[in-house]
Amino acid sequence: MLQLRPNCECCDRDLPPDSRLALICSFECTFCTDCAATRLGGRCPNCTGELIPRPIRPPVKFARFPASAERVHRPERCTAS
Ligand SMILES: [Zn+2]
Ligand SMILES: [Zn+2]
Repeated sequence: MLQLRPNCECCDRDLPPDSRLALICSFECTFCTDCAATRLGGRCPNCTGELIPRPIRPPVKFARFPASAERVHRPERCTAS
């Protein structure tokens, strides 16, 4: 099950579970589309894997499968270009 982390690892902006701006890698490192395009070159800076749009979980599922509340923020990994 996806964790659905609540923020971008680079810029710490909020990425709610229904956000269309959220991208993830296969390890669920989570970034916004802006950082992916301008700073990351479309690759995860932690594992170098590709970043793809995070699927939207149907809201009715959140009672049993809540989104993660644990914020991950590692801006030192995100080199500005
Ligand atoms: Zn970002
Ligand atoms: Zn990754």
